[in-house]
Amino acid sequence: MENAVKFIGFRRHCLTTDGEGVTTLAAFWGCPLRCRYCLNPHSLREGTKCEELTPMQLYDKVKLDNLYFLATGGGVTFGGGEPLLQVPFMHEFRKICGGEWRLYVETSLNVPWSLVQATTDIIDGYIVDIKDTDPDIYKRYTTRENAQVLDNLQRLIEIVGTERVLVRVPLIPSFNTEEHRARSKARLREMGVTRFDELTYKTEINK
Ligand code: SF4
Repeated sequence: MENAVKFIGFRRHCLTTDGEGVTTLAAFWGCPLRCRYCLNPHSLREGTKCEELTPMQLYDKVKLDNLYFLATGGGVTFGGGEPLLQVPFMHEFRKICGGEWRLYVETSLNVPWSLVQATTDIIDGYIVDIKDTDPDIYKRYTTRENAQVLDNLQRLIEIVGTERVLVRVPLIPSFNTEEHRARSKARLREMGVTRFDELTYKTEINK
C-alpha cells in the first residue's frame, strides 16, 4: 500500500498522560534505541504483527472520537517506537485532519535534527523521554549516545518555546537514582525546560 506504515497498536481515550485533552495514541513500529527495559519491545522486533495503515486509513480509524478531541482540545498522540522516523506520514495526516485536532509526539529525540525540525509546524506538543542527561547512564541504558538528544532539545525549545515541550525524567531502577534525576533536571532547567514529568519505569525489579 502506498504511504502505509506499520503500527504496533492504538489506545483510545488517553487523558493528559499522552497529550492534552482526550487523545488517541497511535504507536508506530521501529525505534533507533535499544532500552534495557523497553516498554514496547514488539516495536523493535522484526516480524512483529503490525497493522499497516495509510494516513487516510488512520484518519478513518480515529475520527469517531472527533467530538471528544474538539471538546477537550485533544487529538492524536504519535508514539512508538519512534514517531520522528515517520515525518512524511505525520505531514500527510495533518493535511487530512486539518488544524483543529492537536497532534503530539512521544519521542526520545535521538534522531537527526532535520527530522525534528521538519515537524515544528505540524506538531502541537512534544513529550520527550530524556532518560538521563548523564551520557554514561544514557548509554548503559539505551546502548546509544545522547549528545544529539540534548542538542535537538535545545534547538527545539529555541524554535517552539518551552510550553510546547514536556520532558520526562524517569527514575530507572538499577541505572540512575534520585540524585541523578535531580542533576538531570538542573541541567535541563539551564537549557530552558520548564515542564517536567517525573515517573519511575516499571521493570521486573519493581513490579
Ligand atoms: S525509546 Fe521506547 S520503544 Fe525505543 S527502545 Fe526505548 S523504550 Fe523501547
